[in-house]
Amino acid sequence: MMDNKMNRRGFFTTVAKIAGIAAIAPAALNAVFSSEANAQEKRRGSAPAAAGGGMPMVDPNDAVAKAVKYVEDFKKSAESKGNHCVTCGFYAKKEVKAGKEVGTCTIFAGKLVYANAWCASWNKKA
Ligand code: SF4
Repeated sequence: MMDNKMNRRGFFTTVAKIAGIAAIAPAALNAVFSSEANAQEKRRGSAPAAAGGGMPMVDPNDAVAKAVKYVEDFKKSAESKGNHCVTCGFYAKKEVKAGKEVGTCTIFAGKLVYANAWCASWNKKA
């Protein structure tokens, strides 16, 4: 009889502990993953998107941009022949910045290009 009470108490204590761990575990894991994500952002040298940092624009003077003759306005390059990022297969609209549409480009990972920019890697959107 006494053993039954002890066993029941022991069972409920164990269940309570497991339930407590189950409730705490997701929060603990979130904290770990969140701090790891922040550490990765710091290592990359960019602000987390949640902090409003957003992605930077491609600098026309950086080495890759120069190599592909990137211009922020396709009209400034005769080579563009009227083509620009918005009609390029590598472009994906992201947002509007200061009244100008910007998007991601496969060849400029982690940066944004203007919808009206152009580079020599332009490839007609399918
Ligand atoms: S590859 Fe396409 S989207 Fe990227 S910069 Fe060149 S023209 Fe624009």
